[in-house]
Amino acid sequence: MKTLDNLEVAGKRVLVRSDLNVPLDGTTIVDDGRVRASVPTIRELLDRDATVVVAAHLGRPKGEFRSELSLRPVANRLSELLHRPVSFDAPWTATDGGVSLLENVRFDPRETSKVDSERESLAAEYATLADLFVSDGFGVVHRKQASVFDIAHQLPAAAGQLVATEIGVLRRLTEDPARPYVVVLGGSKVSDKLGVIDNLLDRVDRLLIGGGMVYTFLAAQGKSVGSSLLEADQVAAVRALMERADAVGVEITLPSDILVAEKFAADSPPTVVSDDAIPDTHMGLDIGPASSELFASRLSDARTVFWNGPMGVFEFPPFAAGTKAIAQALTTVDGLTVVGGGDSAAAVRTLGFPDAAFGHISTGGGASLEYLEGKTLPGIAVLED
Ligand code: ADP
Ligand code: MG
Repeated sequence: MKTLDNLEVAGKRVLVRSDLNVPLDGTTIVDDGRVRASVPTIRELLDRDATVVVAAHLGRPKGEFRSELSLRPVANRLSELLHRPVSFDAPWTATDGGVSLLENVRFDPRETSKVDSERESLAAEYATLADLFVSDGFGVVHRKQASVFDIAHQLPAAAGQLVATEIGVLRRLTEDPARPYVVVLGGSKVSDKLGVIDNLLDRVDRLLIGGGMVYTFLAAQGKSVGSSLLEADQVAAVRALMERADAVGVEITLPSDILVAEKFAADSPPTVVSDDAIPDTHMGLDIGPASSELFASRLSDARTVFWNGPMGVFEFPPFAAGTKAIAQALTTVDGLTVVGGGDSAAAVRTLGFPDAAFGHISTGGGASLEYLEGKTLPGIAVLED
């Protein structure tokens, strides 16, 4: 993969695709983590005397202008972080050595079009803005989109610092990880994550499973899960996965106890029950305290850990303990620990863990999972010679 070291940028205009897709409350940025993560590449380019034009998306505007998805608040934050003006209204006028930000690229339907020629025509317009392209939006490299993929066919292209770092870490997870290698999976969508689990069975030593996805696993063991999240159409696939795990000698650990409640609400009173005793009237909203200890014990001697997906509905404080216990266990692991996924990253931060407590917090959930699944990421493949 080509990196910034392979580009002669002095005196050139460089189009940088960043991931600035931050959560907004009105025009207030709730978590500026992705803006911060985009700064090192932009700063390096400016230090090397380039003029920088940044392209990014915000939310899913479905190809039309929506004022609430304007990148204007992000331009202001980027300007503060860079300590210099970021022109936004007429970016093509950015003077030499300056920085500008284009409006949300997804306001144009061609950005995400499935029709190659439509994306290519938009990429050709981007190409008129710059001499070189730098791909630094790790959260979107699994997307075949005009500002991620097609543009790299039209301009000399390389990976920015963030993309290079993220890929470097993921490569360590797929090529010869130190063992025991433990993967912790939670979150809500089983069907999304079955592919990852299938691929990981040939690589990992242990899998710990919690979160909303675990109820499909418990159901596959014939247990009743009450009104918990359940993907009934995935039960057979999960059963097959568990059999394969057995055959290849990968240990799958499921929770032994569950924190249940009657309603999906922060104030619904929690009760601890055994994993085979979830009442029909209740739903599982977190792993129980014995499971937290069990999972921590399966992590204590790990040398490599990848974690995606909260163990419970951590947004409700009474159901955050399982997620907190996993985060805590990761901080004591003697080896590489990686937290991937939008909600997982938000969880460790809102639970008060400093970023430095982990080896790496990935800015891209979907992209990291697809990489670990062994899929080709179009936005990365296009940067390879
Ligand atoms: P990530 O963004 O880290 O990849 P996901 O998007 O897959 O993670 O899942 C995160 C969501 O899963 C959180 O909003 C959390 O509330 C939800 N979740 C976790 N456990 C449960 C559960 N037992 N029931 C319902 N939702 C859950
Ligand atoms: Mg998520």
